[in-house]
Amino acid sequence: MAEADPHHIDVPQGHYIGGRLVRSTARTLEVVRPSDAQPYAALDAADAAVVDEAVRDAHRAWRESSWATGAPRDRARVLNRWADLIEADARALGTMEGVGSTRPVRDAIAWDVPYTAEGIRFFAEYADKIGGDVAATRSDHLGMVVAQPYGVVGAIAPWNFPLSMVSWKAGPALAAGNAVVLKPSEITPFTAVRLAQLAVEAGMPPGIFNVVQGDGRTAGAALCAHPLVAKITFTGSTATGAQIMAACAQHGPKPVTLELGGKSPQVVFDDIADIDRTADIVARAITTNAGQVCVAGSRLIAHRRIADALAERIAAKFAQLRPGPTWDDAATLAPIASRAQLARIEGIVQRARDVGARVLCGGSAWGDSGYYYLPTLLADIDSANPAVTEEIFGPVLTLQVFDDEEEAFALASHESYGLAAGVHTSNASRAMRGMRRIDAGTVWINRYGRTSDFVLPTGGFGRSGIGKDLGRQAVEANLRFKTVLMDFSAS
Ligand code: NAD
Repeated sequence: MAEADPHHIDVPQGHYIGGRLVRSTARTLEVVRPSDAQPYAALDAADAAVVDEAVRDAHRAWRESSWATGAPRDRARVLNRWADLIEADARALGTMEGVGSTRPVRDAIAWDVPYTAEGIRFFAEYADKIGGDVAATRSDHLGMVVAQPYGVVGAIAPWNFPLSMVSWKAGPALAAGNAVVLKPSEITPFTAVRLAQLAVEAGMPPGIFNVVQGDGRTAGAALCAHPLVAKITFTGSTATGAQIMAACAQHGPKPVTLELGGKSPQVVFDDIADIDRTADIVARAITTNAGQVCVAGSRLIAHRRIADALAERIAAKFAQLRPGPTWDDAATLAPIASRAQLARIEGIVQRARDVGARVLCGGSAWGDSGYYYLPTLLADIDSANPAVTEEIFGPVLTLQVFDDEEEAFALASHESYGLAAGVHTSNASRAMRGMRRIDAGTVWINRYGRTSDFVLPTGGFGRSGIGKDLGRQAVEANLRFKTVLMDFSAS
């Protein structure tokens, strides 16, 4: 057992507005630990009035403080100090994150917290490097493209990787000189407030980073509709992303960045150098965080000559995983985030079986306390099977078989999602052909998954989203560009 005692976790109650906790107890939501299905805290759910207070406060702070108008290096300094405080708070933050979400406590402390801090440092470096351009004009004119922040950016986050999502969403917006009002997921709401408290401790003007708690339909919708929110940055499901885009069209129009769902393929050719290594990569890509990763490699597309051998090895790796609470160091498979998400996984796998999918391993929930689903490998699948067409967001891998390269790449491009893809081959030309051909925002070759190279943007094509998180592109997406043309031909 790790040191964390899930029964004694202090969480910050209320919304964080103007540098202080603000309670609104008229409506509360029950927050449940996925590991044992136990409610452990009540969440104040913001109504439109609380959201209005948070947005107005952020707007006032943005206008009155020096966050947007002062020296950009001062902003960078505050962001770097914030990152240092986050790292120094790793044990408390990581424990809160692990107990309340699907992230193992030890990983949350050792990985999620430092990753979050490092992400903020990465964006801090852009604060004084994003001024704009001087344009080529005739010599008695001066043309400039001046980068300016939007003002208040509304950020809406999902429940997987709650801490890192704050650095992805708020990091670039703050570095660009905006104020942010963040609504975390109601399933994993608390660590965002702790981050906001640390931001103020680091010297960020109160109000520049506010957090409102609550559900999407009320608090999230109010944030999208608010006239002082100039831009929305969202990560979550494709269905919600579409609603948010509609709301932003109706109440703006205002720009949106949408990081949405995926159904990402892992294409394995028969020329791979080491089948055990590839099996390991493929298995990890769908079992990390129990498959609750937007870029989870959920569709294995394997050459017929190696498909059986690969499936056997993957199934063996799945069988080694041990489900268990996030605070149990011996557990190697994370829980599923909520009862509803578990039911969704069960439902899709059942429908997949109803139309002919064969279960090679797993195929059921596990345990009698908490939400767990066994790593599952489904074969005899065609492209119309619900396990292929729908994002499952659980540890479920489908196996499709191909005979030639053309068929492989055709199967890899999904009819609706295009978030990420993996290509495993020893043939560099083939890998490059796959990179060009597969319709996805990221292609990994002979590996699967992001590194901590924050400079590489992430984002999807098609129903997987619009715009990028991470990279220079994420900072630019939080700026608007003003064109200036000065005529000095007259004396
Ligand atoms: P979700 O869409 O259910 O919820 C995401 C957030 O939106 C939550 O904070 C929720 O309260 C809010 N919300 C819901 N309805 C809303 C509305 N009408 N208006 C405003 N806000 C609303 O997603 P989830 O289940 O929390 O997260 C899982 C999804 O996120 C998966 O589809 C996954 O692929 C996706 N995801 C994508 C990325 C990426 O980078 N592309 C990263 C992580 C997760």
